Amino acid sequence: MLNVEILGGVGEYGRNCFFIENNGHAILLDCGVMNNRHNTPPNLTRAHVAKVDAVFISHSHTDHVGALPLLETLGYTGPIIMSEMTAQQLKQPCKHTRTFKPESIGKWLVVNNCLAFQWGYSGHLIGSVWYKIRFFEEVIFYSGDYVVDSFLLKAELPIEDGTVYDVAIIDSGHVEKRINNLEVLQQMTEYIHANPSCPIIFPSSFSGKTADIATYLFQHTTRAVRVDHDLLSLFDNYDKAPENLLATKTLLQQFKLECLAKKTESENAIYFMPERDEAKLMELLNNKSTAIVIFTGYRNKGDYKMRFSKNQYKDFFYKTHPDYHDIIALSQKIHAHKTIYFHSSLTNSETTFLQLLKEEII
Ligand SMILES: [Zn+2]
Ligand SMILES: [Zn+2]
Repeated sequence: MLNVEILGGVGEYGRNCFFIENNGHAILLDCGVMNNRHNTPPNLTRAHVAKVDAVFISHSHTDHVGALPLLETLGYTGPIIMSEMTAQQLKQPCKHTRTFKPESIGKWLVVNNCLAFQWGYSGHLIGSVWYKIRFFEEVIFYSGDYVVDSFLLKAELPIEDGTVYDVAIIDSGHVEKRINNLEVLQQMTEYIHANPSCPIIFPSSFSGKTADIATYLFQHTTRAVRVDHDLLSLFDNYDKAPENLLATKTLLQQFKLECLAKKTESENAIYFMPERDEAKLMELLNNKSTAIVIFTGYRNKGDYKMRFSKNQYKDFFYKTHPDYHDIIALSQKIHAHKTIYFHSSLTNSETTFLQLLKEEII
């Protein structure tokens, strides 16, 4: 019998960490901290860690890996399983990583005699994956952060082989939204066409979203695209992992040649700037007085992103998680006795598929 303990990430946005126990053994799914001032860790204790056989990491964002140092402090010395790409992206080196290669996609990989897993791409970030885990007789599905309709990244669920999962843990990050990412890209393109003399600035993060938007606009507008130095490593990763991508390589090669290598000045370029570097963003905005800032995600109270005047910015929300319809579709494709919806303050440990279907949550 599986015992799932939610150590963070359900009913909140951040510190994703799930402890699953079976027959006196346990596994951990992700080990993140909150993206707040305190980097609030998950409710992980020495007693949890003592039982853990293996840790599965979905991707390199802080809300999924930020508490790995805490895990070590609490005495964990077992394997920390992740894709090769995720391991390369980690900011702090991690001693016990055990990576799997792209060629192992869809195959059963054995950890020990009670634990085996399959993985596949989850479309959220280059290198991000879901897991199908066999733990003694039980089977678990963990979506990680999932994007069904990335422009560049593959997202494919496990093949349907009649498996009924004992527990599924599914990303419900954008449960309150109904969005088609391709339509958003088209709307952005139209907007940029309609404002030919305005430079465009995208505050951007190390995410699949940034690469999707930059390459789509490169392909569909005649504007110069400029990517800030701090975001270049993201595009390097795309170069290294063609198997993770939907798009043809030529688009990315052209993009690299024209947007990453050339440094020519352009009056009305499209700029991708690190969103965390407020000072750099403001400096660019001061130099380009007619620029329009485009926000593509949540803007929270107290955030510098709330301080712009109406004619300075525009919102085009692009999904980095499943929206309402995606969550319903994912839940239906993954047959599970029990589903836990995570990554949203609008869902909690009591949220059921039927409540979602009846729209009782939102
Ligand atoms: Zn993420
Ligand atoms: Zn996340």
